[in-house]
Amino acid sequence: MLKTLKFKREISYGSFDNALESAIDATKLFDKMQEHFEKPNLKKPMLLFIGYDGCLTNAVAITKENPTSAIGKILKEGAIYIGRTGGERIGDQQTDTAPGWASIFTGAWGRENGVINNSDVLSEKTKSIMCKLLLKGTSASFVFSWACHKEITYNREAKNYPNRYLKAEDDEQTLELMRSRLKAGDCAIFGIFEHCDHEGHKSGFSINNKEYMNALNTSETYANIIIEDVIARKTYKEEDWLILIATDHGGVRKKHGGRTKMETTIFFASNKKVFKFDDTSGVFI
Ligand SMILES: [Zn+2]
Repeated sequence: MLKTLKFKREISYGSFDNALESAIDATKLFDKMQEHFEKPNLKKPMLLFIGYDGCLTNAVAITKENPTSAIGKILKEGAIYIGRTGGERIGDQQTDTAPGWASIFTGAWGRENGVINNSDVLSEKTKSIMCKLLLKGTSASFVFSWACHKEITYNREAKNYPNRYLKAEDDEQTLELMRSRLKAGDCAIFGIFEHCDHEGHKSGFSINNKEYMNALNTSETYANIIIEDVIARKTYKEEDWLILIATDHGGVRKKHGGRTKMETTIFFASNKKVFKFDDTSGVFI
């Protein structure tokens, strides 16, 4: 309880565009990605999605102030929101990697998309944003080092539909593959870095753990490299880039999966103010 109160205090310092009480559902980020490709646009819509697996929201509140922060960089014209995962009702799905990302990538909670825990395969009725884009002719790739994405969660989808789901050996190779997909001309590049999650399981998910904070800084450095690649493109001015950085779940002590605020609270950073407060409904849409 004390830890939850401390956590609430740590993310309520005005560092975010919304408050913990108005945390935005993880599923809502899917809509923003889909809208980006569907709305009329004089420029070519492009998407860079960077995941920091197992990244604490209160940790980002601190590191985004660093000069090398990729989040800090995109925030200059964008925004950072507090989100929530764990299902429509907290506890419906585990605050684990597969359900966390699947909610963001499908726009549906686990009850609907079938991914309640790490051993579940995505329902045939629900498609990921990567698959939807590919089916519409937008070249999209998804790079990760966590093998279960391809072996379990998106296994059926990868077998039945066109896909470019690329398994990297480690975070370094994830970065290299993302950079090469960008060069190859993909219009939507998804990639997930595991630094935070690995370190959290090893030495603890905590802003007071120096090793954990170093791991986050490494993800930030990697993300910065690929964002610099985007900005340096010759065609950058003719393109409309949506750049997103998000996490799938938080953590407490050396694990995650449960219902605490430290595990269910997530964040989405964006180079655009993708969510706005709606006075009529009283929520961020
Ligand atoms: Zn995870």
